[in-house]
Amino acid sequence: MSPEPANCPVCGAAAERLRAAPRGYRYTCPSCGTFQISSRALSCRPGLPASAREDIRRLRAYGHLPLLELTRDGVSISPGRP
Ligand SMILES: [Zn+2]
Repeated sequence: MSPEPANCPVCGAAAERLRAAPRGYRYTCPSCGTFQISSRALSCRPGLPASAREDIRRLRAYGHLPLLELTRDGVSISPGRP
């Protein structure tokens, strides 16, 4: 499967995304880098927390692939799988 153009849900820049298992997408953004986001978290746009960008940057600095998911408390950002 090849990447498709899509705007980054975090910063709005022109980015690419791939479908990622089990549900959701893996975005590659020139500004935010690579991260995964679930379909549900994506559909809650523009409900992403203002801190999302910084959280993604911090997790990536530690070598993680950040995962944005929708939980009962809103969108959470976890380290995900490397
Ligand atoms: Zn971005």
